[in-house]
Amino acid sequence: MSPADASPGFTGLGFIGLGAMGAPIARRLLAAHGQLAVFDTRAEAMRPLTEAGAVACGSPAEVADAAEVVFVSLPDPEAMPAVLDGPDGLLRGRAIRHLVDVSTTGPAVAARLREILDAAKVGYLDAPVSGGPTGAAEGRLTVMAAARPEVFAETGPLLEAFAGQVVLVGDEPGQGQLVKVLNNLMSASALAITAEALALAVKAGLDPGRFLDAVNAGSGRNTASADKFPRCVLPRTFDYGFRGQLMTKDVTLALSEAARQQVPMMVGGTVGQLWTLVGAEQDADADCTEIAKLVEGWAGVTIGQAGAHDR
Ligand code: NAD
Repeated sequence: MSPADASPGFTGLGFIGLGAMGAPIARRLLAAHGQLAVFDTRAEAMRPLTEAGAVACGSPAEVADAAEVVFVSLPDPEAMPAVLDGPDGLLRGRAIRHLVDVSTTGPAVAARLREILDAAKVGYLDAPVSGGPTGAAEGRLTVMAAARPEVFAETGPLLEAFAGQVVLVGDEPGQGQLVKVLNNLMSASALAITAEALALAVKAGLDPGRFLDAVNAGSGRNTASADKFPRCVLPRTFDYGFRGQLMTKDVTLALSEAARQQVPMMVGGTVGQLWTLVGAEQDADADCTEIAKLVEGWAGVTIGQAGAHDR
């Protein structure tokens, strides 16, 4: 699909929240459509985008004055209703027709957004993403989309600028959020158990690289063993690009939905406790892969190139 085909009839696109995920997604939208109005509470986050040709705005309302379709990628689900409906919120803008939420806000916040947007007659594409900053930069994110058919028909093609795969999971916004928080609960569980298994392997004298080679050729393979540990933990870079606090947020969102729906989660509950500990013990900026450091501390080993026992 050519860029011109990709935005049927939209005079403007906008983007709010230019962080680890938002910035590369916004960059690809700008490259595909030649125009983008942007806003972030941090001026320095807007600079690389404006240097590439985007127009900086002073508030969400200003973005929604310039853009018919506004994307948001924000870290705090509780902030979303204000970004939409606050004094400087998106709904004060005159051009906005559709909101595309690529953040992970969870099903409960999505239900509130749905009410606000329905009342304002603004379309809502619930479109959380998976694949990390690298997947975003390379245009191969997976989008877990949910929207009413008429909204998806209009806005779905815009996702092609940054998605490798779009899975339409339902026609009720919020369903994408449920899939996404469950996806992250599974991913968070994989990180936790891989850290524990590697700590034991290293303490018992095994080489961590060879351990991962064997597991990745076996049935223990997961996204932590195949990607996050070889790329970010063994070389001690801890730079996957997804903050541990965001993972804690997503696990908590999944577990609150489980509680609301009265679905027991014995494994999920334990994983939730571990990520609550990560949230309490590590800095707000710590990468999700730094969960390994917590487990290393308990086991008294370092997983990685040192590969040896600390004590
Ligand atoms: P981030 O903290 O790197 O970036 C968030 C950006 O939003 C920052 O630039 C911040 O200044 C800005 N911001 C915060 N509040 C704002 C407001 N009220 N108005 C305007 N800008 C505001 O977070 P991130 O990693 O980019 O994550 C964003 C969302 O994407 C989260 O919901 C996260 O769970 C989800 N997500 C992240 C990843 C990842 O690998 N990083 C992957 C999939 C989904």
